[in-house]
Amino acid sequence: MRKERGYAGANQLSLRRGNRSVVFRAVWTLKRISRIELAAKTGLHPGTITHIVDELIKEGLLKESGIAETSIGRPALQLEINPELAYVVGVNLTRDSVSAALIDLSGQVSQEVSFGGLQVRSDNKYLINRLLQSIEIILEDASLAGRNVIGIGVGAPDRDCVTPLHKRLASVSGPNGPHEEETLGEIIINRFELPVVIDQNANTLALDLQYFGDLGSISNFVFIRCGFGVGGSIVINHEIYQGNQGSVEFGHLTVDTRGETCRCGNTGCLELYCSLPAITGRVAANLGVPAPSLTVEQIAAAYNDGHAAVVETIRDVAKYLGCAAVNIVNSLAPEAVYLGGPLGPLAPILAQLVQEYIETRIYPTLRGRVQVIGVGQPVGQVRGAAMLIIRNIINTGTLGFGASPAAGSDTSKAG
Ligand SMILES: [Zn+2]
Repeated sequence: MRKERGYAGANQLSLRRGNRSVVFRAVWTLKRISRIELAAKTGLHPGTITHIVDELIKEGLLKESGIAETSIGRPALQLEINPELAYVVGVNLTRDSVSAALIDLSGQVSQEVSFGGLQVRSDNKYLINRLLQSIEIILEDASLAGRNVIGIGVGAPDRDCVTPLHKRLASVSGPNGPHEEETLGEIIINRFELPVVIDQNANTLALDLQYFGDLGSISNFVFIRCGFGVGGSIVINHEIYQGNQGSVEFGHLTVDTRGETCRCGNTGCLELYCSLPAITGRVAANLGVPAPSLTVEQIAAAYNDGHAAVVETIRDVAKYLGCAAVNIVNSLAPEAVYLGGPLGPLAPILAQLVQEYIETRIYPTLRGRVQVIGVGQPVGQVRGAAMLIIRNIINTGTLGFGASPAAGSDTSKAG
């Protein structure tokens, strides 16, 4: 339902909804706040605030949490969101692992379960069975604890991986038998009958950063996620850019026109040099050890110890990442480039090298204005996946799915 740009008027109802979402979003973001401070922060009339807050308290979305000194004078009753009103299952699927957890409306993560090393089998059936199993465990525990689960948010690998996954995994879809056209979202909905939102895991990491990261004044940034592949996310003015397919493909930026042929058909793609298997494979080859035995922690430690072969390889990896970052920065002029995913302690090391690389190569007016920041957070992926559902609640101030989730992602709704 796209409004014609320039003709979108506001009627009484949309104004009320808009104010309600402004109030809820403010309380969610500022954590504890009084009605007087809310009026000051939002610019809304105190009478409007009282009305909306009463409504939100009645519906259980907000609660009063005692009296405290306000920043603008006498003590006042504090408001906060009611994080236990509803819960979301956040799931992170990679090509060889599944993690799932229960997340409350404030983003608090509990009951995490993980399955790793799932690439032992050649078919994806095994991977998807573990995905369904992990959701089932979380839902069962939530049900025992009397928690109200309202949806499932899933971060998944790139679309190349997810699409054949749907087809091959259709046979695990449940009592109705195999359906050729069944998507991953439909498989999950048919099993659990809850709303499901799926997006690429570079986007879920960017979402996590947006809601829980220390962004300061940054409102435009990109995220390069190095995992089994290399994924990307572009955030413009706090919104994830969806393009025409819901995601972007930083992994397939050309960084060597004479490079090897990539699975996408192009040559010299970033992913060939900077995916996690590519990094560990090259370090291992230089050290003469088997790649699977190397962890990112070991590589980072060897780099920090000045191990020559490791330093050389990591600098080379940073050069390719830097080349891609120059093209991205020159195209989008973001305030920051985040680098992360399962890179762990390698993320800040690579970020610093990429920062040095781009500083002399990006367009002169951009120099000194773009930060490259390494993110090695482990919790972010499942929490970011849950935010695919929770962000709609924050943006509307309602538990319902009346307002459509951001267009473009693999979005499915049940019931
Ligand atoms: Zn490619």
